[in-house]
Amino acid sequence: MTLPPVFDAHLHVQPWHMLHPAVHERLWHGRPDAETILAMARDPGRLLRFLDDEGIETAVLVNYVSPEVMGFTEEANAWIVRYVRGHEDRLIAVGSVHPRTSRDPEGDVERLAAAGIRMLKLHPPHQLVRANEYLDGLESQRRIYAAAAALDLPLLVHTGTSIFPGARNRYADPMPLDDVAVDFPSLRIVLAHGGRPLYMDTCFFLLRRHANIWMDLSGIPPRALLEYFPKLESVAAKVLWGTDWPAPGVPSPRRNAEVFWSLPLTEESKRRILRDNARAFFRLEAR
Ligand SMILES: [Zn+2]
Repeated sequence: MTLPPVFDAHLHVQPWHMLHPAVHERLWHGRPDAETILAMARDPGRLLRFLDDEGIETAVLVNYVSPEVMGFTEEANAWIVRYVRGHEDRLIAVGSVHPRTSRDPEGDVERLAAAGIRMLKLHPPHQLVRANEYLDGLESQRRIYAAAAALDLPLLVHTGTSIFPGARNRYADPMPLDDVAVDFPSLRIVLAHGGRPLYMDTCFFLLRRHANIWMDLSGIPPRALLEYFPKLESVAAKVLWGTDWPAPGVPSPRRNAEVFWSLPLTEESKRRILRDNARAFFRLEAR
């Protein structure tokens, strides 16, 4: 049983030069591979060689606008679109429209989709916004969700806590997505990180309740995965593999995939999670 080609549905190649100094320090200080990672963000060819070495066939490159906490401005969207150009068969660009600053929510969503963004990211603890704040008057958020649903542009949502300086963890609980899933039944939602480390039960509940909710495994140590989700096998059709590389604690995506491959799940479920589910989710089946 050799490891199939991997679809990593959650890793980060971002305009790192935009990071606030404190976040930059938190992310890169003392990391021997920092220079290599920064160089990959300047050169897609270098990233593709790294993905080859790590056994990754397709990668979702997660970006989002987070001016307050991280330092990423709207320019991050244009940056990732330029980065993946010519490599769209292997690199999937993720961007975001910030509901607090967008003046033209429908137009912004449509422009991103037309430019080549294939999924929107919402990061509540870094964007300082609750996923269901449209119920309390944040009208632009409702319009972003409606526009994304109309274009079949899925929504990736960070679930669980964040320890970056400035992150606010009152936004970490994924339960507000219950409203989003009910109010926008045609919007496909991915729960990133399975709510780790505090909200795994909530994620599992949402996954089972809603046909339009999926989950990615990024940021969960694969060795502990079945402690986090003992019934993972029962939801394997809605689970996407991801590593969150280059997050601290993920030195090698290949190593993570190998540990996952050794877990006591059926081979069929492992193949689906590592590759097939994501290919279907991103409509790559016919390609
Ligand atoms: Zn991430």
